[in-house]
Amino acid sequence: MQINVGDIVTLRKKHPCGSFEWDVLRSGADFRLRCRGCGRQVMLPRTQVEKQLRSLTPGKAPGQRAEDAGPPVN
Ligand SMILES: [Zn+2]
Repeated sequence: MQINVGDIVTLRKKHPCGSFEWDVLRSGADFRLRCRGCGRQVMLPRTQVEKQLRSLTPGKAPGQRAEDAGPPVN
């Protein structure tokens, strides 16, 4: 499972604010996630994120920004 910074993960467990979606701020052995509902940040070990993961929405990786950046300016 490849999870990158900038991706949005949907977890099975609902945050107290009601949101299931988290922004990935840091990946590695531990993940730093920011709740998209309330903005709270948490650190979770990779094993727990993978266990709770329901779906993964790829974020804006370098080289994949064409669709929302519009036509090249230069
Ligand atoms: Zn929240």
